[in-house]
Amino acid sequence: MSWYYAVNGQQAGPVEDAEMQQMAAAGAINASTLVWRAGMDVWATLGSLVAPVSVPTEQCQQCRKPYPVEQTITLAGGPVCGACKPIVLQRIREGLAPLSTGKPFAGFWIRLVARMIDNTITSIAGYIFQIPMLIVVARMDKQTGPDLSLLAGTGALAVLLSVGAAAYYEAWFLVKKGATPGKMILGLKVVRARGGPMTWGLGLGRYFAHMLSAFTLYIGYMMAGWDEEKRALHDRICDTRVMSGG
Ligand SMILES: [Zn+2]
Repeated sequence: MSWYYAVNGQQAGPVEDAEMQQMAAAGAINASTLVWRAGMDVWATLGSLVAPVSVPTEQCQQCRKPYPVEQTITLAGGPVCGACKPIVLQRIREGLAPLSTGKPFAGFWIRLVARMIDNTITSIAGYIFQIPMLIVVARMDKQTGPDLSLLAGTGALAVLLSVGAAAYYEAWFLVKKGATPGKMILGLKVVRARGGPMTWGLGLGRYFAHMLSAFTLYIGYMMAGWDEEKRALHDRICDTRVMSGG
């Protein structure tokens, strides 16, 4: 292949490939040197013809995407990208297994099963609180008809108590155990994205935030299915993550 090249505004050549390489090695031509050979429409810099210099990359342990080496740091014995650094630090604080060997975030289906277990437990509590209401109904005078205000009052009380009990259940287990019984059975753990202990405020807040996930036709729950960090709506609101294999 015969090459022409421009030096100080003057066309030179033709030279063959081997000679081009020698000139490049000697510094006589460089990436900004304009060159042309048969088949090219226009002159171009030598640098634009060579395949882009490949930047050495490393795979982030957390998201498994490649990043240039200088954009990663080493944590837990492997490369981690800037975006994943807080999550990895969190995992180290939580004493969880290295990311590359485990599934860090619990997905939609296992969390659904965990939620069903918890719902079964809390709905039993709910039935207990409905007992006073049933007593009121049973004692109603059949002659005078039902006392609607009494019925509504005990009904409201039953709902309030069962919601309160379910919220207390969620918060107590998150604060004391880091997971509700349903999650514990399946080896899941709820953690704060930024680290630190689970507080009562966060535990209660997460319970009511998860009701929001339910009220959005469960789309809030399903968000965990397609989120990179498997966050449901209530995880986004409370900035929590559900980890598996903890
Ligand atoms: Zn990453």
